[in-house]
Amino acid sequence: MRLLALAIALCLALPVHAEGFISRLLNKPVPGGVAVVDLGPAPNAPAARFQNKPVLVIHEDQQRWIAIVGIPLSVKPGIEQLLVAGKTREFEVGNKHYTEQRITIKNQQQVNPNAKNLARIERELSEQTHAYQQFSARQPSNLLFDRPVNGPLSSPFGLRRFFNGEERNPHSGLDFAANSGTPIKAPAAGKVILIGDYFFNGKTVFIDHGQGLISMFCHLSAIGVKLGDELPRGGVLGKVGATGRATGPHLHWNVSLNDARVDPAIFIGAFKP
Ligand code: ZN
Repeated sequence: MRLLALAIALCLALPVHAEGFISRLLNKPVPGGVAVVDLGPAPNAPAARFQNKPVLVIHEDQQRWIAIVGIPLSVKPGIEQLLVAGKTREFEVGNKHYTEQRITIKNQQQVNPNAKNLARIERELSEQTHAYQQFSARQPSNLLFDRPVNGPLSSPFGLRRFFNGEERNPHSGLDFAANSGTPIKAPAAGKVILIGDYFFNGKTVFIDHGQGLISMFCHLSAIGVKLGDELPRGGVLGKVGATGRATGPHLHWNVSLNDARVDPAIFIGAFKP
């Protein structure tokens, strides 16, 4: 008995493989999630690409490089490949069920826009897609983000949405309930790479946190920054509002990695499987 107790005590005392804090927190490999892929030790950061787009690579625990890969909502569960210095590394994408939401919009133009509005929407979409595709060399100041506002979470990421009974794009971000005028703070440092007043998103700010990690904030009542501004972590970028297609004041926050919109809840430790 004493030997057994000693053996158990020894086992408990043995060091286990220390998986990094960031890896554990961010690794949610599902459609609309994030895959953390270990690239091992190397003197310099290895270049990684997913779906032919450059991927965020960071040094973890001063020892190894890890790729933080955004998985588009459209990816099916199964094996995916990351291209690292000419070689492939596989990772597995699991399953996630996203629920449905039905929304009634009074302004029919916001559900079935006319030709003039469709042309505007297309133009604005390409402008925003271009912003998501930027890849700057800077290292993100922090990958564990601060909440941009203090309000409670309302609509989650990935909801399948029906506007007046018609299915539209799934919810690309995370909503916070907050009063109009509430200041919105940058969840990490970054550069303002796009500002707009869009048909669907209303007053909008894009912030580049570095290496394809990009935040978008929309439906703002007021924008407090200019194009090209550098924001510190916690810097105020604007105020909560209800501009664009919104049923009431709230903050809609998108997080994009390698041009894939992913669940912002992952970055604030609020992910629900
Ligand atoms: Zn939203």
